[in-house]
Formats: sequence, C-alpha cells, structure tokens
Amino acid sequence: MKTAVYPGSFDPIHTGHVDIIERLAQLYERVIVLVSESTQKQHLFSIDDRIDLVRQSLKHLKNVEVDSHQGLTVDYMQNKKASVIIRGLRAVVDFEYEMTMASMNKKLNKEIHTLLMFASPEHYYISSRGVKEIAKHGGELRGFVPEPVIIALRSRVGRGL
Ligand code: ADP
Repeated sequence: MKTAVYPGSFDPIHTGHVDIIERLAQLYERVIVLVSESTQKQHLFSIDDRIDLVRQSLKHLKNVEVDSHQGLTVDYMQNKKASVIIRGLRAVVDFEYEMTMASMNKKLNKEIHTLLMFASPEHYYISSRGVKEIAKHGGELRGFVPEPVIIALRSRVGRGL
C-alpha cells in the first residue's frame, strides 16, 4: 500500500494544511499526518490537543490516519515501512528550509524521498503563527482554520492566549 507521511507541528492545523491533506488523500491509498513532538519549539497547544484537533478536522477523510512521534522522522518512516515524506511549500522563504531538511533526511536514509506540494493560491498566505495572532486580537477566524480549531482558539483566548 502506497503511504505518504505528512509531518509538521500543526500548532494548530489550518485550512492550508487541510487542503494539502485532502489532495494527498486522493493521490495515496494511505496518508499519515504525523504531529511532531519537537522539543525545540514552544507550542501553544499540547501534543494531545494538537492531535485531537487534527483528528477532528480530518474526520471526513477515511484513508487518513493521525499519529505522533518524538525523534527523527526518518526513523518513524522506517518503522512504518513508508518511503514518502510530503511537505507543503508556500513562498520562496519555505524553500531553503525544506531543501535543507530533505537533504539531511536523504543523507540519513537514502530510501526515503521528500516530495513538495505547492500550497493552493487561496491558502498560501495562511500560517499557524498568523492564525494565533488573529485569535489573540479577536479577529475573524472563519476560513483560516477548521471549526474545531476556532472553538479551541477562542477558549484559549478566553484563558489568555
Ligand atoms: P513545521 O513542521 O515547519 O512546524 P507546520 O506545522 O507549520 O510546519 O506545517 C506542516 C507542513 O505544512 C510544512 O511542510 C509546511 O510548509 C506546510 N504548510 C504550512 N502552511 C501551509 C499552507 N498555507 N499551505 C500549504 N502548506 C502549508
């Protein structure tokens, strides 16, 4: 079975991510959205909350699974016998980081390939950071994030984001 793994922080998942995942679900028999437990980044949502929000936002996609992992993505891939990592590309600023990550992963395991998927024109400007900023200042979140994320962000703002 051809499996694609889409790793990221998803803090929180937004409509740009959902759009990439919906397209992947049409291209691959199985898609794993891998929520990373990075120790280097400060997250707004805990790993459990991020996983939960991803699950709730992707309920309509039957061939998509959600998992989490701490450590190297290539190790996760090997355990799952998956060879394709998907990353989303927004603007040129993403390119250098993604190329470096892809090259490092290739050096670690040459059997694993990174494929880049362009963001849709209507979503390329959306980022988790931007969404958190909108939430903090009480802006309209509809169109930026799925409904469960709107509820979670509003609740966080209520408790002081
Ligand atoms: P990171 O793992 O770098 O923290 P994110 O959780 O923000 O990444 O995003 C996961 C993946 O989704 C990355 O490949 C990122 O480039 C991609 N991505 C982020 N925002 C968008 C968007 N608006 N459209 C398409 N892809 C995106």
